[in-house]
Parts: sequence; C-alpha cells; structure tokens
Amino acid sequence: MAGQPIPLSAITSYHAHIYFDPGEARARAERVRTLIGERFVAGLGSWHDKPVGPHVKPMYQVAFAVELFPRFVPWLMLNRMGLSVLIHPNTRRPHDDHLVNALWLGDILPLKGDMLPSEVAESEVEELPPPNTSPTLQP
Ligand code: ZN
Repeated sequence: MAGQPIPLSAITSYHAHIYFDPGEARARAERVRTLIGERFVAGLGSWHDKPVGPHVKPMYQVAFAVELFPRFVPWLMLNRMGLSVLIHPNTRRPHDDHLVNALWLGDILPLKGDMLPSEVAESEVEELPPPNTSPTLQP
C-alpha cells in the first residue's frame, strides 16, 4: 500500500529489547547490560524474567535517544553475545513500531501483536525516560 511517507520526526525514541533464556543466557544478558551501562547514556529497564506484554521470552528493555542510534546499535551488533535483540522506534503506532518497522539482531522471535494498539494519542507517545546510567567508558 502506497501512502504518505512517515517523517523521521515521528520517532521520539527507540527501544532495544534484549531477550534471554534462564540460566547461562541470563548471565550473558547481565554482562551485556553492564557493558551498556558503562558506555551509554541509556535508560536500563527492569528485568523481566517472565514474558511480559507482547514479548514471549524473558527480556529487559533499553530506552535510548534518537541521537544515540548510530553509535549504540552498531555497538550492539558487535556485542550482543548471541542474544536476540529487537530494536524498534517509538511513534504513535505501537503495533507497526514492533512488528513492521522494527529490526532484529540475531534470531527473530514472535511477538503478540494483538496486544499492541495500532495507534495511540500524541500524549501517549513514549517519551525518552531520563537516562539512569553514568557511562564511564568509551564504546
Ligand atoms: Zn519497546
């Protein structure tokens, strides 16, 4: 379907969801999380050891600013330690953000798309949470 192109200004922030299985993969997820916290001004979300929302595996979320994309995403390409990572924009269209306009590093996992609204009000667009990390190292 050809429609109007979506302007880049529709993207208010990004999420990276880092998935893991219990056990050894969780240890890798902990390592990746530590490395991110040392290097990037990003919002590190809670651990979800049980699937939550549209996500079918344990994961945690990293929220990051548009400006950080060209440094953080390539760093994740090199340092995801075999884990699956979903990177999606935050716009007014959560369903498309996750299922149509996202990118994956590693194995692609299913998502419960029916849990995501197709469109939300402008006031509900996710703004970037305040970064809660204090990077001390260069990426
Ligand atoms: Zn997300």
